[in-house]
Amino acid sequence: MNSRRSFIEKTFWGGLAAGTLDFWEKTAAVFDNPEKNTFPLAIATWGPNVKATAAAWEVLSKGGRALDAVEAGARIPEADPKDTSVGYGGYPDREGNVTLDACIMDEFGMAGSVSFIQNIMHPISVARRVMEKTPHVMLAGEGAYHFAISEGFPHENLLTPEAKKAWEQWLVRSEYKPIINVERHDTIGILAIDQLDRIAGACTTSGAAFKMQGRVGDSPIIGAGMFVDNEVGGAASTGLGEIVLRTLGSFLVVEEMRRGAHPQKAAETAVKRIVRKYPKQCEVAQVGFIAIDKKGRHGGFAIHPGFNYVVYQRGENKVFESASLLSK
Ligand code: ASP
Repeated sequence: MNSRRSFIEKTFWGGLAAGTLDFWEKTAAVFDNPEKNTFPLAIATWGPNVKATAAAWEVLSKGGRALDAVEAGARIPEADPKDTSVGYGGYPDREGNVTLDACIMDEFGMAGSVSFIQNIMHPISVARRVMEKTPHVMLAGEGAYHFAISEGFPHENLLTPEAKKAWEQWLVRSEYKPIINVERHDTIGILAIDQLDRIAGACTTSGAAFKMQGRVGDSPIIGAGMFVDNEVGGAASTGLGEIVLRTLGSFLVVEEMRRGAHPQKAAETAVKRIVRKYPKQCEVAQVGFIAIDKKGRHGGFAIHPGFNYVVYQRGENKVFESASLLSK
């Protein structure tokens, strides 16, 4: 994930929008695949999540449900102590607490979410229980924790020695600057279509490293960090949550697809909206979207170069470098 850190360092703002139409014309033929067998399909933010899409494919290839596939995929980085942006091993807030956010949606438009949950390794599975076992969509903080415990999830210490060390180093200067290549933002958003063309999505994160205590980003917010409409498609985001929250980015991507846009173009539209509204912040902030539509077409688009995503389709697990609005 080191590429993620370095990719926005030398952004030239003047390159805004230059060449994006060209890009679209050149790549449409690749992305707009008229072949059959476009699903099942699993897609996730960030190349290192190949193991997550493989876990999703395991479910999908056996005829399983997209919802089970995205949950299985999201649980992979949640349990990985080396992934410092998701679940166990995630970097803590500035007080040293690992606080997690996650959401999930199924093909019926049902949704579940947890935010600011602590000491539970698999917030995505808790989000699913919220969706399936409560009359609510979202549980936060202690309420989410107690619900998880009542559902049999174990209490666990999620702060690894490595994450503690990184936090202690950060404390020396205690400087919080929302600069993406300094902080870690490698949230997993994962979307799937199963063999019965049911669409589901999941998103899980430890959020911005060294954030203020209680900060919640876009990831657990339905329509911001992730959104699915089974009639249309799904989208998920990664990057600086605040600017995705203010624009309900994933919802916007899905609505663009509803109006007929290809997933790639829909993601591009959402990125352009964010950049138009928050140009200053976008100079130093990354946001990337992934999207799929009902035909099994996919796309990804980011503000800055360096975003990538992984697609498991037709038995192949491939990493794609995302197109971006700005060039290096
Ligand atoms: N969007 C997440 C957040 O702001 C972090 C990320 O995707 O990197 O919490």
